[in-house]
Amino acid sequence: MQVKLLEHTPEPERVVAAAARLCYAPIGADQLFDKLTKKEIRKLLNFLIESGHHSAIEHAVFTFAIEGISRACSHQLVRHRLASYSQQSQRYVKFLDKLEFVVPKDIKRKPNLRKLYEEINEKAFEGYKKLIEEGVNPEDARYLLPNAAETKIVVTMNARELFHFFTLRCCDRAQWEIRDLANKMLKEAKKIAPIIFEDAGPACLRGPCPEGPMICGNPRKRIKRKKIDK
Ligand SMILES: Cc1cc2nc3c(=O)[nH]c(=O)nc-3n(C[C@H](O)[C@H](O)[C@H](O)COP(=O)(O)OP(=O)(O)OC[C@H]3O[C@@H](n4cnc5c(N)ncnc54)[C@H](O)[C@@H]3O)c2cc1C
Repeated sequence: MQVKLLEHTPEPERVVAAAARLCYAPIGADQLFDKLTKKEIRKLLNFLIESGHHSAIEHAVFTFAIEGISRACSHQLVRHRLASYSQQSQRYVKFLDKLEFVVPKDIKRKPNLRKLYEEINEKAFEGYKKLIEEGVNPEDARYLLPNAAETKIVVTMNARELFHFFTLRCCDRAQWEIRDLANKMLKEAKKIAPIIFEDAGPACLRGPCPEGPMICGNPRKRIKRKKIDK
């Protein structure tokens, strides 16, 4: 799986802080943008995130290029509705030579199951190619392709949606592949907006687990937001 942060709001934390501060300021956001100190930005962002006033962090936007995830994983990803997606089409792209399949670690570890898994995927791919050769449209031939088939997708989310996505999908309750994806996206987003995403991740990083009877029993160590910039 490859996850690349393609683009993001330049200075996302300054934009968010200027927008939030504007609500209580006699001057405009353009002046605030230039004037705010790093300490003020940290203080404002901590307040927004800790108090749950998350609407201002919607001003920061991140676009990721994701490759080598399964269709099973991309299906879970696109359930997150407050995002924009562009996915490689199985209608318009014909896979004539090669199609990669994601192999879950649990299956990789067991040679006999791995063999079975790979044989079935290959057989499905052979069937797909045969249909294409016989003139069937890719949009119909693709019905033979398994959930394991790799895909490429571009996703754009604002920081509020990303924060929510990380809460659900970095959690141990999430399925391993989308959890892996979410953790990689979080790592990239944190490099650009370390204050916004400081305690992003499963809910147990910030408070009690909301999963009730589904609790995993392995709460993470809580993250305390830094109060001053060093
Ligand atoms: C561990 C786990 C197990 C899951 N199991 C299943 C399963 O078995 N079956 C299944 O179908 N799905 C399952 N899902 C998917 C889940 O139900 C959600 O569809 C998915 O996580 C998207 O989350 P969301 O709806 O909170 O967020 P998003 O779509 O990312 O939206 C973000 C937030 O915006 C608000 N919002 C968005 N759209 C609306 C709207 N139309 N009306 C009101 N408010 C809105 C909500 O507050 C929402 O939380 C699972 C998810 C997880 C993490």
